[in-house]
Amino acid sequence: MDKIVYFDNAATTPLSEEVLREMKPYLTDFYGNANSVHTVGRQAVKGLDMARETVADILGADFNEIYFTSGGTESNNFALRGSFLAREKGRDKLVVSSIEHSAVLSTASELEKQGAKLSMVKPDKNGYLLASDYEKVGLSDCFLAGMMFANNELGTIQPIKEFAKVCSNFGALSFVDSVQAMGVTDIKVKDLGVSMLSFSGHKFGGPKGVGVLYIKNGVKVAPLITGGYQERSKRGGTSNVAGAVGLATALKLSRIDLEKQTANIRSVKDYFIKKVLSEIGGVTINGGENSLPGIVNITFNGIDGEALLYALDLKGVCASLGAACSAGTIEPSRVLKEIGLSDIDAKSSIRFSFYKQNTTQEVDYAVEVLKQAIKKVSG
Ligand SMILES: *Cc1c(COP(=O)(O)O)cnc(C)c1O
Repeated sequence: MDKIVYFDNAATTPLSEEVLREMKPYLTDFYGNANSVHTVGRQAVKGLDMARETVADILGADFNEIYFTSGGTESNNFALRGSFLAREKGRDKLVVSSIEHSAVLSTASELEKQGAKLSMVKPDKNGYLLASDYEKVGLSDCFLAGMMFANNELGTIQPIKEFAKVCSNFGALSFVDSVQAMGVTDIKVKDLGVSMLSFSGHKFGGPKGVGVLYIKNGVKVAPLITGGYQERSKRGGTSNVAGAVGLATALKLSRIDLEKQTANIRSVKDYFIKKVLSEIGGVTINGGENSLPGIVNITFNGIDGEALLYALDLKGVCASLGAACSAGTIEPSRVLKEIGLSDIDAKSSIRFSFYKQNTTQEVDYAVEVLKQAIKKVSG
């Protein structure tokens, strides 16, 4: 295939050249184990420390509040399982929204089997959560409540500050999966007042297999992976120094002219939406106004989404049916069903997600392909 138009940046983003350049020495010359005390080890420590400092600075956190992990999934497991193990007596309740990523939802149902009392908070019809709904479920016997910063299928941005406030009022830990928002949002953990916050390098131009869990000082969390003394004994295993450097570099790059970068991403998405609405009939945009710059979810009424996706792929246009993690299964998207879509409509819906490398020329091509593909699958 010659032409690829990649509109699936919520699944993963391409590694930026500059990130690769910063990572490379830590994959080659500075190959040391960050636990070794000799010169080669100290070179690795230096990279790891720099990465941690960069991340901490950008998030407005302390150096020792940043824990490197293998990605978003591990960070979410760490937050949920670690706080469950360290919970206070009489606090067995876990509250999460019903539109969290599967890394949260699957972990929550595992913990339910282990004795956690699980409660779910539902979104409104546009995919928004309310902090007061967490309060209604009851947080005084809750060890941890989770609200994602922004939904990965709809892009809807949630009221994190209010959520964190409500949690702290009732002595529950607040956990935020910010995997989709990081890289396009100026997240400052102290302003938000959250106890824990997770994100992943590969969703904003960094490498795969590296993530972060921010854990506020004083918050009790048991380790998920036991081993050596890495990550202040909270996460054993030889440090992925190149990964941490890559994540930190990508994060730093995302914050240079953040507003301009996000305005560009949003303008490409808006151009796409405008063209789809004017040139293709019978579509519905899911979600609402307050959303991430790069994500749009569209129902193509009466069209089989899976067939449409394949037809697009044949012409090099990459998009996604709901979450990538549920691709391969024929289940309709859980998130779309939670906001009230029928099975049929959910299966007719496609997520297009944009990042800073995308252009309006790509949109022109993709919309032409989309028009032909719709004709093909409905004909
Ligand atoms: C991608 C994603 C994850 C998982 O992150 P990985 O690094 O791929 O494990 C978790 N939560 C959300 C919202 C995501 O979009």
